[in-house]
Amino acid sequence: MGIEENMNKTRKNNGDEDKPAPEISAFNALQNESIAFIREKTNAFVEEQGKRPRMLVTGVDQKVNDGTTQWFASFFSEMGLDVDISLLQQTPHAVAKTAVENDVDFICVSSPGNVSPNLPSRLSDALKTKNAENILIIVGSETPSEDDHSLLRPGATGIVNIHRLVIDMDNWLARVKFGMDVSQDAQHYVKGVIDQDRRIIAKAITLIENTHPAHQKTAKAIMDALIPLSGNTIRIGISGVPGVGKSTFIESFGMMLTEKGYHVAVLAVDPSSSRSGGSIMGDKTRMERLSVEPHVFIRPSSTGGTLGGVARKTRETMVVCEAAGFDVIIVETVGVGQSEIAVSSMVDFFLVMLIGGAGDEIQGLKRGIIEFADAIAINKADGHNIEKAREAKMHYQSALSVLRPPSRVWSPPVLTCSAHSMDGVETIWEIILDHREKLDVSGELNEKRRKQALDWMWDLVEEGLIDRFYKHPKVIKLLPKIIEEVKTGKTIASAALHKLLSLNE
Ligand code: GDP
Repeated sequence: MGIEENMNKTRKNNGDEDKPAPEISAFNALQNESIAFIREKTNAFVEEQGKRPRMLVTGVDQKVNDGTTQWFASFFSEMGLDVDISLLQQTPHAVAKTAVENDVDFICVSSPGNVSPNLPSRLSDALKTKNAENILIIVGSETPSEDDHSLLRPGATGIVNIHRLVIDMDNWLARVKFGMDVSQDAQHYVKGVIDQDRRIIAKAITLIENTHPAHQKTAKAIMDALIPLSGNTIRIGISGVPGVGKSTFIESFGMMLTEKGYHVAVLAVDPSSSRSGGSIMGDKTRMERLSVEPHVFIRPSSTGGTLGGVARKTRETMVVCEAAGFDVIIVETVGVGQSEIAVSSMVDFFLVMLIGGAGDEIQGLKRGIIEFADAIAINKADGHNIEKAREAKMHYQSALSVLRPPSRVWSPPVLTCSAHSMDGVETIWEIILDHREKLDVSGELNEKRRKQALDWMWDLVEEGLIDRFYKHPKVIKLLPKIIEEVKTGKTIASAALHKLLSLNE
């Protein structure tokens, strides 16, 4: 059943077919049936392609209405898409740069009113200059209209209207598939990465994230060729709860590094994932100045609920960025799960970001994340916050003093900074360089990287074993039955485990 039929059916069931189309609440009323229909299409795509379709939802060039843009972002993530969201007012070229680096399949240009007539074609021209004309442009409109064609603009492939919710996902996904360049061999990507071709770097990262066996094979061949070219960089992990100021700090810190002549890659690990499987990746495009810098590459990745996989993917993505000539790699992770521990085990320097005046519990510290810190930065030390930041500094200094330092030559310092005023930001860079030098001279840097290589191997072993387990024909056949037996209490968990493992022998 199509979306439109579903929508009419819902209205009939409600006995209000004569009323005008309800506004945003229609989305909720339709959720169960229509969304399931589109999700089916998306899931079929995921099954076939080994990746979720990805979309950048943005305002482009016009006054951005956060509500409208966010509405479209949640709409498409509910449809099972991975969604990047940009709430900035950006030029078509800036949007095209983000779309290329995130390797999206669609851009949804949302507008609280009518999308201006020549916008999609200007965006389309910007995409062409980046060899990215395959990216489809969808107009997201909030203007009530029974005639969607009147809202369609030259350069755009389709339209989604908040009031009517008729989308042609089937057709769009077919077009995305048609435009995919899947015939390329590993050498094509290796050459593109070494030549610093943004589009190919982004595509290589997508391949690394891809779960399809054929793509995984290509990704492995790319890795084999690129690993020898990687490693000569500074790898920094930054973690902290949402709102602590990570993005703002990375924007200030990254700008300072580019002014010093460094090429910076920012990889953002986002543990969010909705029940549809799709996710909305944090608004990394908030790094307004940094995201348009020519020597900066920003790539958010969703963990999609599988943390082990993300650790491997982030490591491999780092390798791609290093082989592409980026010399400082920043991995940002939200400190609300296991992801920060995974990230701390793959970087040279792990910075934990906190703020003054908030309890340890609120800042996610109960799991002892500060044990992994090479430094703690108390951010927002400006204006009225300065005193609170100083108090927090003393508090964490004494908390750290009872922990064993992570190194023989390094005791993690606690400092205050302001990502807004730039106070202390330069000092953090000096500390990172000092840490590197001390660990280098003492041989600990080498030791650390060797241990990380071993951690990497164990992660791969674990991932490989899990993969092999689930793909075993006997497991595929009997797993649903065993799950049912455990659910109904016929079999206890430990007996089920025994059964399952013996299937794998
Ligand atoms: P994230 O979720 O950790 O990435 O946090 P954001 O970078 O999005 O920042 C959350 C909020 O804190 C935003 O409103 C920022 O403007 C604000 N913020 C970030 N850094 C500072 C700072 O150094 N000082 C002050 N006063 N506010 C800041």
